[in-house]
Amino acid sequence: MKQIGPVKLIEGPSKSKVPFSRSLYIEGSAEKVLIDTGADSTLLKQIQADSGVDLVINTHYHPDHTRHNVLFHETEKWINTIEFHMPLTIEGIAKANGIFQEWGPEGVKKWEKEIPEIWIKSLTQINGFYEYEKQYSFGNIHVHFLHTPGHTKGFCCPYFPDLGIVFTGDYDMTSFGPWYNGTDGSIEEFISSAKRLLSLDAKYYITGHQKGTFQKNEFHHAMINYLSIIDHRDEVIEKFVQKGISFDELTRIGIFYPKHALEHSLFMTWERSGIRKHLSRLGYTVVDSEIKRIMVKK
Ligand SMILES: [Zn+2]
Repeated sequence: MKQIGPVKLIEGPSKSKVPFSRSLYIEGSAEKVLIDTGADSTLLKQIQADSGVDLVINTHYHPDHTRHNVLFHETEKWINTIEFHMPLTIEGIAKANGIFQEWGPEGVKKWEKEIPEIWIKSLTQINGFYEYEKQYSFGNIHVHFLHTPGHTKGFCCPYFPDLGIVFTGDYDMTSFGPWYNGTDGSIEEFISSAKRLLSLDAKYYITGHQKGTFQKNEFHHAMINYLSIIDHRDEVIEKFVQKGISFDELTRIGIFYPKHALEHSLFMTWERSGIRKHLSRLGYTVVDSEIKRIMVKK
């Protein structure tokens, strides 16, 4: 198990790829804290049996980061204030993920039958919240929950200033690129939060998926490539729009997801919602599947 100071990295199956994620276990203090529960359930159960968990922290409400909350029945579980106050119900999740926006009430009804049970189950377990930008002390370990919106509205990156560690979660530096496709996500906020992460006095950046630990310089370099995927998506979309493509046609090309994945309704929903954000950024709006310019591009 990888460890940086008192922070242990608990992996999820297949390099913590979605639908799993990396968890952090903080020990060396009186209080044992687990950040995100997307890691391998066997490893998490082992930790619970060996040294215990006094508090579970979720960086945000997505299922790959909360999926094993259910293993910690008796433990207090906190999420950020914004998402604590968001309706973490089937309807609330349907709205935040663009299901209502793309398919209306009928789509939400269909989604009720499709939503993985563990998603809602893990969210109903949450019973408290942490505040942003305030110092919390778990024993002798200090942590700040930075508000880094963009991926979701409430998205948080736990930062350990004394240890020079930041847990960047879904700033995962994967080749898929940035994800801001829910209606609670924002491209502009994603970029400004990325800049904030780079400005931190930190030595280690730990991501929630795949590669894992980056030194500061390495993370900086990776972030430039990672953010450039946003510009690339802009360029591809603009090219298609110039050819006079309709919105529905544009959503079947595979800008975010591989074409075959778009057969799954949730991926198609995120594809559509993500493309809408780029169109709006490029100065277009969608009216009955027709893409119209709303302003002169700078
Ligand atoms: Zn996420």
